[in-house]
Amino acid sequence: MKNIILFGAPGAGKGTLIELLGDKGFQFSLVNPGQMLRDITKEDSEFGRKIKETMARGELVDDFLVTELVKKKIRELEKGKPIIFDGYPRSLGQVEIVDEIFTEAGFDLPYLVFVKISKEEAVKRLSARRVCSECKENFQDFEMEDPEKCPKCGGKIIQREDDKPIVIEERFEIFNLQFKIIDHYFKSRDRYFEIDGTIPKEERVEELIEIIKS
Ligand SMILES: [Zn+2]
Repeated sequence: MKNIILFGAPGAGKGTLIELLGDKGFQFSLVNPGQMLRDITKEDSEFGRKIKETMARGELVDDFLVTELVKKKIRELEKGKPIIFDGYPRSLGQVEIVDEIFTEAGFDLPYLVFVKISKEEAVKRLSARRVCSECKENFQDFEMEDPEKCPKCGGKIIQREDDKPIVIEERFEIFNLQFKIIDHYFKSRDRYFEIDGTIPKEERVEELIEIIKS
């Protein structure tokens, strides 16, 4: 079984893939620093409150801290289950850190799995996203009867600043820059796979399982 780093632009559907893997009963260990940080904010500790404040201000949590969390998580992982990274590593420095810890811990070095979508597709998917300002439920604009009223609680429906086309395009460009730096690392080491992010999600998850099992 291969350990993998799932990589894809905003809107590529990495979260959906991971959910589907879970639904299928596929056994894996997930390393997702975003989720780890959200879990920490729920802890009643000084550390948890600090992280919560940083995230509430919309700031990024310090790179060093995130890396420390990831290191700790990797050391605690059980052997024998494939490991999937989501949202980390994002830079060449972080990629090298992961390779180092994996080597130290005796895990097989991870492969990059790139879920590929175009900028146009990313904009199309993400700009359709709406959220209720009251209950925070997510919707797609085309599935709503009343575009301004939440079908669950009647609250006002809004589009997050992040989901506006111009912001999505910017996020896509930033992603592409990150990707161009790290994809070479994996391609030159023969540790690279690609999944077409526009095929039906059931097929995408099957491809992912095949890659992990190959
Ligand atoms: Zn609502």
